[in-house]
Amino acid sequence: ALEVRLASRPTGWPTEDNFEIVEVDIPTPADGQILVRNVVMSVDPYMRGRMNDVKSYVPPFQVGQPLEGGAVGEIVAVGSNVEGLAVGDNVLHGLGWREYAVLDAKHSVKVDPTIAPLSAYLGVLGMPGLTAYAGLLATAEFKPGDAVFVSGAAGAVGQLVGQIARLKGASRVIGSAGSPEKVKYLTEELGFDAAFNYKDGPVAEQLAAAAPNGIDVYFDNVGGEHLEAAIDSLNINGRITMCGAISQYNADKKPTGPSNMIQILAKRLTLRGMLVGDHKALQQQFVQEVGAWIASGELKYSETTIEGGARQAPAAFLGLLRGENTGKMLVQF
Ligand code: NDP
Repeated sequence: ALEVRLASRPTGWPTEDNFEIVEVDIPTPADGQILVRNVVMSVDPYMRGRMNDVKSYVPPFQVGQPLEGGAVGEIVAVGSNVEGLAVGDNVLHGLGWREYAVLDAKHSVKVDPTIAPLSAYLGVLGMPGLTAYAGLLATAEFKPGDAVFVSGAAGAVGQLVGQIARLKGASRVIGSAGSPEKVKYLTEELGFDAAFNYKDGPVAEQLAAAAPNGIDVYFDNVGGEHLEAAIDSLNINGRITMCGAISQYNADKKPTGPSNMIQILAKRLTLRGMLVGDHKALQQQFVQEVGAWIASGELKYSETTIEGGARQAPAAFLGLLRGENTGKMLVQF
């Protein structure tokens, strides 16, 4: 069976050379373990951080070891003393980047393919979905009537942020993304009031034009120039959810900070960081509410699925960093 290992740590943009695809024996599940044949795996921006040898909220990947990340698969063997799981069940777990994963049963969550396709548990109903839900409603303390701006708006998290804001009564929803097709998708399919391509010109100017009455909430997936522009456009008592800063993940020199920080005090802004792992208490409410919107057709989502399993996983990850995805980026085995 194939697994993908970290061959070397990148500086700046990663390349295929940082990954190594290796043939390994299929493991046998020990006491309390399950063997899972992965069906679909996630590639996520945070994985870029784990390729660096720095202390963070998740430990770094190790050179010579397989990478890790969200995956959904089918149980093909069960060790002794495993309760509540059987061969044929589908589970969500943290050992992607490999065809077969062996893990403690308690580190998996059973998922139901009759409720939603397996891929949804990695996207709209999974970690990115909860990030959007909690980041908007809990971290930014969104309230009806707020004008909301989200960057990375055509991505897995961003698509949901904009739509949840619309469904919860935002006065205006604005998104930015990196291609004309994505911009069109946001306004014509997902119900954003306005959207712009950040590659077309200065973000501050494009945002000011899209939000003539300013914004009350900025959901930051990008950092850098976007963050500075949002601080310019935020109204008094505005809030920022600091969710990600993908424009800086591949930077090889220290990024410069926003030059307009003084406005934070003048406008009494709140900038609040968030990690999805802190919001498990919202999981049930999130699945119920977003699940109902999907069922009623009020909320749409897209996925970009790369076929070819482990061999194509590095290319899928590199494509994600370049913006080749609309919605959740996935690898199908
Ligand atoms: P996405 O599906 O949004 O994919 C990443 C997108 O980032 C690409 O499609 C690309 O779209 C965009 N991008 C890449 N480079 C740049 C750039 N220089 N400037 C602007 N946009 C860029 O990923 P996710 O939805 O999974 O994640 C979105 C953000 O949320 C990330 O920053 C991630 O780290 C963060 N996150 C944080 C979590 C937390 O707990 N705090 C949990 C999950 C995600 P485009 O074509 O528009 O450039």
